[in-house]
Amino acid sequence: MELIVLWDIDHTLIENAGVSKEIYAAAFSALAGGPPTGPARTEGRTDRLIMRDMFVRHGLSEPDWAAVEAALARAGDERLEVLGKRGTVLPGVRDALKAASAHDGWVSSVLTGNIAANARVKLSAFHLDALLDLPVGAYGADAEQRPDLVGVARERTQRLRGVRDDVPVVLVGDTPRDVEAALATGSGIVAVASGVHSPEELAAAGADVVLPDLSDTAQLLRILGTFAAR
Ligand SMILES: [Mg+2]
Repeated sequence: MELIVLWDIDHTLIENAGVSKEIYAAAFSALAGGPPTGPARTEGRTDRLIMRDMFVRHGLSEPDWAAVEAALARAGDERLEVLGKRGTVLPGVRDALKAASAHDGWVSSVLTGNIAANARVKLSAFHLDALLDLPVGAYGADAEQRPDLVGVARERTQRLRGVRDDVPVVLVGDTPRDVEAALATGSGIVAVASGVHSPEELAAAGADVVLPDLSDTAQLLRILGTFAAR
């Protein structure tokens, strides 16, 4: 019963209450010398794509990625406290992460568009970081396109935890991009309609399993188990 479970963060595990958009705006302001004219377009995109899109929309050339990542990390670090105050853990998440991390033969980590530093900020603001195997996760600096993050996490689970490369992967996420990343890589997907996307949209993207939220731990664990290697 081996399985690699990779959770999306924003709108799947936590509600960031707009703090995430503030991080992109602050990073952009620091690099561009002035605030953006509109909010970042996120919805399952990686940080590399989100920031590039902001510079392109403003007719500016994008700084080196190292400078962008540093600005994002600084902006995230400054918002750890406010995120903990304004944001929330979504229903059932703590129990779901506890159960998955304790499950024999499972690796439970993240697949997120956030850079690793901000993934850690977002999870630690709610004390969820200890419930995930973060070193084997895949993050927004690792690739531009979300489907490419699956291979990154698989390589890390193999190299750092000795997990065979034929062990199934299942993604848990709230956007059509999460669904697409799963379908493009032969991974399972549990879509959760706790973000802005409706169950219909997620089903139309190709998700066979769409949950309203993660509040039913027993049901979620049963569903995840159907993707495990026997
Ligand atoms: Mg999300």
